[in-house]
Amino acid sequence: MSYSRRRFLAGAGVLALAGLPACAVLARSENIGGVRYGMVHDETRCIGCTACVDACREANLVAEGVSRLSIIRSEPVGDFPDVKYRFFRHSCQHCDRAPCVAVCPTGASFRDAATGIIDVNPDLCVGCQYCIVACPWRVRFIHPVSRTADKCDFCRKTRLKEGRQPACVEVCPTRALTFGNLDDPQSEVSKLIAGQTTYRYKLALGTLPKLYRVPFRYGEVKQ
Ligand code: SF4
Ligand code: SF4
Ligand code: SF4
Repeated sequence: MSYSRRRFLAGAGVLALAGLPACAVLARSENIGGVRYGMVHDETRCIGCTACVDACREANLVAEGVSRLSIIRSEPVGDFPDVKYRFFRHSCQHCDRAPCVAVCPTGASFRDAATGIIDVNPDLCVGCQYCIVACPWRVRFIHPVSRTADKCDFCRKTRLKEGRQPACVEVCPTRALTFGNLDDPQSEVSKLIAGQTTYRYKLALGTLPKLYRVPFRYGEVKQ
């Protein structure tokens, strides 16, 4: 299939999404595993070191030229030498109502029943790019080697399988990342969300992202 044809089909996928009945989206978004993993990125703790980006690449063998996770630095805030930056985590939000799952024609893009994690089965992926166009956060890409869709899977197939935390969480030197079961009120991540002011990016789109953020407060960076 030519690249231009792929792009045309990808565009058609977005139109198809717009016309989907709500039940088609909801049916694939129910939590049926008892565990619903989510994450908090505390922007008041993040120093933009990008150790998380490197750890992700190493743990998940992410190819050069593509990335599952990036940290976006804001413009400087304040006057020298008292300059601060806001660091924004750019990665999959693991939406409970994931449009990338709803548009996938083969079932390759799916919601894992045991964890609530949105993932991709490369064996079923035909590289049509519907999911890439449907994702409002632009976090998916075509893997340059496998030619299938790829993105953050919260290390489901690597670290979680070994009973560990996602690589980005383990490596973060300031403990800016917290990961765990959102449906367990006693989990660290649930307590953090209950006790802190948090926000979710593009919440108004109704996809119910599971990546929460403690907002950076200008001029008040917590050490
Ligand atoms: S490793 Fe932690 S402090 Fe460093 S950029 Fe990532 S989230 Fe921020
Ligand atoms: S952020 Fe994008 S890729 Fe991730 S679950 Fe949501 S729509 Fe899918
Ligand atoms: S690129 Fe793969 S995962 Fe994405 S919609 Fe097409 S078949 Fe599904």
